[in-house]
Amino acid sequence: MEAGGEYIRPAVQEAEEHMTMHDNVAVEEMLRDAEDAIEPGDLATGQVISQSQDMTMTTSELQSAGWVYVYDTLTADRSVVNRNMLPQQLEKRRLDGSYAFSTRRPEGVDPIRGQLKCLLHDDGPNRERYNSMGLVHCVKSNLLTELARERHMKYRHPRAFATLEDERRREDRDAERLERIALTDSIRAMADSNRGAKDA
Ligand SMILES: [Zn+2]
Repeated sequence: MEAGGEYIRPAVQEAEEHMTMHDNVAVEEMLRDAEDAIEPGDLATGQVISQSQDMTMTTSELQSAGWVYVYDTLTADRSVVNRNMLPQQLEKRRLDGSYAFSTRRPEGVDPIRGQLKCLLHDDGPNRERYNSMGLVHCVKSNLLTELARERHMKYRHPRAFATLEDERRREDRDAERLERIALTDSIRAMADSNRGAKDA
């Protein structure tokens, strides 16, 4: 049963990849990636803006998927919101009563840009291994903190995040197992040498 499961896994993964391609998380992720690569004004209709694992998505497809940009009115930080959620987002206010978001970029505010790259960035030290694992590519390179990077991984790349978490847990388990074996061996060796001392 276990072995059979291993053999069908690639096909299942492919099917999952295809499905997530059509749900909102994947669309939002692609839009965010595109956002980092190209300024929205530069997007030509029909231009291919994301290309990974045989999937391509054009500007017009993203627009028709119903996503829009909103800006933090204080920091000018840009994010994407589904059109359905836009009214709620624009209603959000700060403690002083001012609106928190706007569809217009606030003037005279430079967004604070971080320097950290997404773990799935092409420049990442583990990229080759991630390629062999079939993990997506990401161009995000302005994350502010490690925590922000972790949150980005968790929410923008849930499948890659789960894969890496699973790998980490497996490595921890293997390390623990090796430690146990080493401990058992040393206890046995101690018992043997005690016995040896008595026999002598
Ligand atoms: Zn990323």
